[in-house]
Amino acid sequence: MNKLFQFSQRLVERGCQWIGTYPRKAGLIVAILIGLQLIELIFAGISLSTSNPRPPICTTVPHILATAKPRLHTQQDRPIKTLPHRKTVHLNLARKDATPKVKKIPPKKHVLKNKKIAPKHHKLIIKRGDSITKLLKARHMNKCIPLIIKNKKAAKALHHLTPGNTLLLESNKHGHLKRLLYTFSSKKQLEVSISGHKATVHWLKRAVKQHLVYQNVLIQSSLHSAANQHHIPNTIVAQLAHIFEHDINFSRDIRSQDRFALLYYVEDFNDKPAHYGPIIAAKFINRGKQYTAIRFVDHANTTHYYTPEGYSLERSFLRAPLQYTHISSGFSERRMHPILHHIRAHHGIDFAAPYGTPVQATANGRISFKGWKGGYGRMIMIRHNRRYTTVYGHMQRFTPHLKAGSYVKQGQIIGYVGSSGLATGPHLHYEFRINNVPRNPLTVKVPYQHRIAKRDWPSFHQSAHKWESYLRGVHTRIS
Ligand SMILES: [Zn+2]
Repeated sequence: MNKLFQFSQRLVERGCQWIGTYPRKAGLIVAILIGLQLIELIFAGISLSTSNPRPPICTTVPHILATAKPRLHTQQDRPIKTLPHRKTVHLNLARKDATPKVKKIPPKKHVLKNKKIAPKHHKLIIKRGDSITKLLKARHMNKCIPLIIKNKKAAKALHHLTPGNTLLLESNKHGHLKRLLYTFSSKKQLEVSISGHKATVHWLKRAVKQHLVYQNVLIQSSLHSAANQHHIPNTIVAQLAHIFEHDINFSRDIRSQDRFALLYYVEDFNDKPAHYGPIIAAKFINRGKQYTAIRFVDHANTTHYYTPEGYSLERSFLRAPLQYTHISSGFSERRMHPILHHIRAHHGIDFAAPYGTPVQATANGRISFKGWKGGYGRMIMIRHNRRYTTVYGHMQRFTPHLKAGSYVKQGQIIGYVGSSGLATGPHLHYEFRINNVPRNPLTVKVPYQHRIAKRDWPSFHQSAHKWESYLRGVHTRIS
């Protein structure tokens, strides 16, 4: 006993001594013990995660949090007890993650439903070859076709559709045709209403109201922006430019502080403007110079715009014989020839344009020459009367069937832009001769096309006086 006691005492002493002398080793053992516990823990985790695979949609962070928390609590009694618990956590998470995705879908469905719900209006302009069945089929409105065909009145009226006329199709929420409106003319419309299995047809008389609009506009940057500011439709701007095309170059000459006044008709259909024009009277002040146009229908029922003095604004010559990109060479008595490299007079205007651009006769006349002429290349000369002659050079080809002696009208195509003869690039060399003396086509005073006939003078004078007084607002404001 004594020996045994002594042995145990020694052992304790040794142990204490060992512990005392080797505190680092003790720490290491403790660390190993803790490490073993951790390894155990990790294995438990792996066994769990493999037995219960992660839902793929789950975001990683909530997954780790969710799995880590219950593991701390149920470390000892794993794995059976913890499994169902974790499963629910995962499933809940999966649902939580999925819910916003599910929520995202209904709005899409909602949009689709809305599209179906909204009744649609198709406004169509009839083209060549269009038929009522073709147009309805293209819009999946097949159901109503037999109903329309059965109705004799509708079938007869819609048998032939005239290109340019308008057709309005109104469908209900299911996309079925509810109402059809076919516009025959500015005064006549056909209405077909479909309810259930019946189509009813009515002829509608269009209630067209016409009223006069006055506009007085100061240009600050461009004609179009000024027109936009005053809600002047493009068709009216185009008409205005056309009326004054011989006096004002609308692409180059418009300056800020230019001003114009306009009187034009607007046709209202169902209290909405449906048609603009024509312009009744217009005044344009361009770079300090004033131009006035009055619309007048003469005894022969032809319509022109005239100056208040009774001269037509149309001229007997077009300003340019083609749609050109730019003027590559102007009229001059002395210029360095680009090919011959010596100073030579240039008695015409070079209008640059792409190959093949159509060239028009600038006035009525008879072709006096057609063919190749030295530096001019392929050339046409037109004699308009005893005084006036025009020349068109460097053409690529002529309009077939034209020959010397042929009569041509103003605007008629006589050939196409090329670079034949002495030319560095595609352009039209255009000459304007008075008594065979070349004059600058851009500055020469071109005669007015015609004057008001004597018999029309009294009525013209009256209407010119009336419309001018309307336009006078511009005059008082300017001066
Ligand atoms: Zn030239």
